Amino acid sequence: MTDRYAVFGNPISHSKSPRIHALFAAQTRQNISYEALLAPLDGFAAAVEAFASSGGKGANVTVPFKEEAFRLATSLTPRAQAAGAVNTLSFAEGVISGDNTDGAGLVRDLKANLGCDIQGKHILLLGAGGAARGVILPLSQEQPAALTIANRTEERAFRLALEFAGRTDVLPEACSFAQLAGREFDLVINATSTGLSATELPLPPHLFAPRGLAYEMVYGQQTPFMQQARAAGCRVADGLGMLVEQAAEAFFGWRGVRPATGPVLVALKG
Ligand code: NAP
Repeated sequence: MTDRYAVFGNPISHSKSPRIHALFAAQTRQNISYEALLAPLDGFAAAVEAFASSGGKGANVTVPFKEEAFRLATSLTPRAQAAGAVNTLSFAEGVISGDNTDGAGLVRDLKANLGCDIQGKHILLLGAGGAARGVILPLSQEQPAALTIANRTEERAFRLALEFAGRTDVLPEACSFAQLAGREFDLVINATSTGLSATELPLPPHLFAPRGLAYEMVYGQQTPFMQQARAAGCRVADGLGMLVEQAAEAFFGWRGVRPATGPVLVALKG
């Protein structure tokens, strides 16, 4: 029997997830199918429930449904609870289990693929949307020296920092972009969606430490953030590794086997 999996989103035709999971399945000899399914904007829950009741074993969830998936899940992992969003669902015996593997994917990409040590580092997280929220807990579990959240809409950054205060060893700090003037960070993560619209963030000069890393969550294009960081002499990475690592974490949760991500990253870049 082939176990069925899918990714739900809107739009979804651009998704690399079917290819990634097909490569994982071939590598680990798992008998699964994985398809991209377009859910109507007002019909996500119905689409997921139809898939589960027709025998689907699990699903990934992408834009714009991660928060709806959080509400749909009848059981949540602690990291999904902290993120307030779900990107991985499992269906068994009437229970819809929700997990969030984005943060673990980012941390694994940083540490294992990019050789970026997080412990003791000063981290700047740009953005306060779903992606930023999902990575705060996993990042702070790596014991950085400090974690600062900056967002265009300042109040959202403050609300996020407040929400995680007391839940993490590191007390997150919030500020506006203007308040970043004169500060320098070892690791700057762009969790805003500005890469998709090629919008330049109003970042002050000297933000990037010379031997630091600038990480853009968007992948597949040279974004203004990446250009700004490169111009400042900073090492730059895009979010393709995070995408593959979050998928590997979901695959592991479903199948109990951890695929090697290196060859998959090479195949996607080729
Ligand atoms: P979201 O919830 O819509 O949040 C968007 C964020 O971007 C908010 O903080 C928003 O600030 C900010 N923003 C939007 N336009 C801006 C502008 N012109 N100037 C400054 N800030 C702006 O989106 P999300 O789910 O967090 O996703 C963010 C990005 O991460 C997306 O591009 C997504 O593709 C990427 N992502 C990648 C992966 C991966 O595996 N590589 C995983 C998850 C997400 P305001 O609060 O002021 O509106």
